[in-house]
Amino acid sequence: MISNNIDLESTKKSETKDFIRQIIDKDIESGKYGGRVHTRFPPEPNGYLHIGHAKAIVVDFGIAEDYHGLTNLRFDDTNPVTEDVEYVDSIQADIKWLGYDWEDRLYYASQYFDKFYEYAQELIKKGLAYVCSLSLDQIKEYRGTVTEAGKPSPDRERPIAESLELLEKMKNGDFAEATYTLRAKIDMSHSNMKMRDPLIYRIKHAHHHQTGDKWHIYPMYDFAHCLEDSIEGITHSLCTLEFQNNRILYDWFLDALEIYHPQQIEFARLNITHTVTSKRKLKQLVDDKIVDGWDDPRMPTICGMRRRGYTPQAVRNFCEGVGLAKRESTVEMALLEYHVRQDLNKNSLRMMGVVNPLKVVITNYPEDQEEWLEAVNNPENPEDGTRLVPFSRELYIEQEDFMEDAPKKFFRLSQGREVRLRYAYFITCTDVIKDQAGKILELHCTYDPETKGGNAPDGRKVKATMHWVSVKHATQVEVRMYNSLFVEENPDKKEEGKTFLDYINPDSLEINQNCWVEPELAKAKAEVNYQFERIGYFFLDSKYSSPEKPVFNRTVTLKDTWAKIKNN
Ligand code: ATP
Ligand code: MG
Repeated sequence: MISNNIDLESTKKSETKDFIRQIIDKDIESGKYGGRVHTRFPPEPNGYLHIGHAKAIVVDFGIAEDYHGLTNLRFDDTNPVTEDVEYVDSIQADIKWLGYDWEDRLYYASQYFDKFYEYAQELIKKGLAYVCSLSLDQIKEYRGTVTEAGKPSPDRERPIAESLELLEKMKNGDFAEATYTLRAKIDMSHSNMKMRDPLIYRIKHAHHHQTGDKWHIYPMYDFAHCLEDSIEGITHSLCTLEFQNNRILYDWFLDALEIYHPQQIEFARLNITHTVTSKRKLKQLVDDKIVDGWDDPRMPTICGMRRRGYTPQAVRNFCEGVGLAKRESTVEMALLEYHVRQDLNKNSLRMMGVVNPLKVVITNYPEDQEEWLEAVNNPENPEDGTRLVPFSRELYIEQEDFMEDAPKKFFRLSQGREVRLRYAYFITCTDVIKDQAGKILELHCTYDPETKGGNAPDGRKVKATMHWVSVKHATQVEVRMYNSLFVEENPDKKEEGKTFLDYINPDSLEINQNCWVEPELAKAKAEVNYQFERIGYFFLDSKYSSPEKPVFNRTVTLKDTWAKIKNN
């Protein structure tokens, strides 16, 4: 039944399918893996996940979902030294936030350490592996070069029984680190250097976050990864291009052991301008305190994007939008922001906040009067309803919405000019009040009581609609504006004597304490996206915000749409 459904769907979508889905379609058609699709996402718990991992997650989970298949979450924890449970926890939280579920299929490569050991013994018994006593430097030297064949280790013909015994002792911790390794016996003159008797195990007297002090040997990636996939019955093992050269080894181990054989398929990494996507570099930014932790809203980490106010839907749309390629390319950060805006435009609540206040006194509005005016919460979604916004004699408007000697193209407020205050009234500026130095202190305006709600009964038009807040009802909040973390499009470019740290943008964070918001925003909720009308999208900061002092992150700027805003 299920496979029929799959066939129907695949013919429907086949024209637009990426190369991986095309391969899977063929496998289903030929009955390879019995029509099953089972992928895995295999992070190494040595850092927080970033946007590149989000891409891999969307590929691994998304493809399986499309084919009604399964995806495992597997921690590739074969290197005890750099790994940590903090990362194990954060990775799970991040994948869940993105909206994916591995159900009960959470695995650790370290669960298979016993199994790996048995497989290693089997390779030795088959004459396909040996314990080598060369140092790592010697191994490198013996390996040869791309143009030169390598030479065999003096231990290459070590008797099977001896290798088995030595391996046992390595495992038990009888030897110092770097004294012995276990190596596959393949081909010292193979054109692919990876095939020149690669390492299988190295000695490490390290504590492991899952297995404790049990092991004194740890497996190499190339040996472990294919076995993990095989043990779990993975069908399509999707990874990034840098593993293309390793595929030959992936296949060799599985063939040598004559066990279930998944297929490795490589796709291009996601690279984005103006940022770095390498856990090592991101960790450096954190350790050097250049950013405020892994979840700093300027970081391309999943938790950073989340804290900033990006939505899981936007991140998924972006990852799907860039598609699957076989060649490396770099995507503009602007494209990610585009998807964030698209989603927030549909799903954020519109409120009013003034980020650079200029006081306006409505001179013909009674001093003790106030009105609560109805405002629409989200024109894109009527279900979000309406709220009441207070209006009174003293207001704040945005400094940049006023110009004294306004050029022809400036349609907002200036002396003698009439504009609309959103949801409120038409006002006309009558006086500009300045201090002795000529600095503008406040504006005096009059309002037309006939225009309540923002429309003139006589049908007269104004060219601008502006946001505002009532001074006596407004709350002062902090707003954090983010610019890109790097000034260079490619911070990884190799310039003489420079590293990516030399391209940090000194203005990547601007903190504005003098921002005033309407009452509804003063009690803004965590995890809710707001649009400050005409200013941008904002989100309460999970670290610094408190009910007494709201702190907002600017998630992303708005496209400049102020002129288009109609009062409704
Ligand atoms: P980093 O280079 O940041 O340390 P990694 O590749 O070492 O990343 P892993 O934890 O080993 O990180 O990766 C888990 C999975 O995520 C792998 O399948 C890897 O190919 C994939 N992945 C990592 N970075 C990217 C990226 N930029 N684009 C697409 N997939 C990625
Ligand atoms: Mg890695």
